[in-house]
Amino acid sequence: MDRLYTPWRLPYIVNPKPTDCPFCDYLLQDPGHDPENLMLVRGQHAFILLNRFPYSNGHLMVLPNEHVSRLVELEEHTQTEIMRLTTYCTQILDNAFHPHGFNVGINLGQAAGAGMEAHLHVHIVPRWTGDTNFMPVVAQTRVLPEWLEDTYRRLLALAEEFPYTH
Ligand SMILES: [Zn+2]
Repeated sequence: MDRLYTPWRLPYIVNPKPTDCPFCDYLLQDPGHDPENLMLVRGQHAFILLNRFPYSNGHLMVLPNEHVSRLVELEEHTQTEIMRLTTYCTQILDNAFHPHGFNVGINLGQAAGAGMEAHLHVHIVPRWTGDTNFMPVVAQTRVLPEWLEDTYRRLLALAEEFPYTH
């Protein structure tokens, strides 16, 4: 029997609101705030963010504009654009960092390791032969903001040079 009592989580569980969601917040903000939100590309039904808590340099995420947690809730045109944006992510990351491979995946639900399960997102993580857990360690240091900003600027320049077309 589960005796854990966590009343502070109840409003969130009973009534999750998109206003509580940073991803929805980034989307609803004026595009002038995109750089500080690490918003890379706004598509028609989905968008690309640079992950603020990356597993590796250039860790991107593709998210539907809609605040949904399950794949079945997505319209077909959104599913299509999510895959097209995911493909686009691999293209600009190839150009920017020449990774040896990618991990592409979605964690659905907390049990699967989703940190922000309410708004589903595809992770695109560039990988290099022999890479280790070095980056998560680096990510804990003060170096991160500048490093993220550099990565963002580099990817944005490429996104402008080779624009995503919907
Ligand atoms: Zn959301």
